[in-house]
Amino acid sequence: MIVCQACGHRNPLRTRYCHACGVRLEANLREIAVAVEEDREAQMAERWLERGRSLFLLGAFFLTCALVLRYAVVPELPPAVMPPIAAGPLLPPAASAP
Ligand SMILES: [Zn+2]
Repeated sequence: MIVCQACGHRNPLRTRYCHACGVRLEANLREIAVAVEEDREAQMAERWLERGRSLFLLGAFFLTCALVLRYAVVPELPPAVMPPIAAGPLLPPAASAP
């Protein structure tokens, strides 16, 4: 950002005239270096935001695929029916009641 000396408006980098008042911008070397650094940081933040958005969309896509596979493609399994347990010769005899 290049700050206008006349009105104090913060103009984007590579601006020759102030966007607010139209005065020709006179930026010294230090101001330009700070502006370049701010511009680089803004680009980096935007890049990370874009990566986060991509990761979120990828996760949503895989979640949707998993839900479709679970409920639309794979049929529901029948309930398990277990046979009754029969007392075999290996089990100890039941205690006799007095
Ligand atoms: Zn201005």
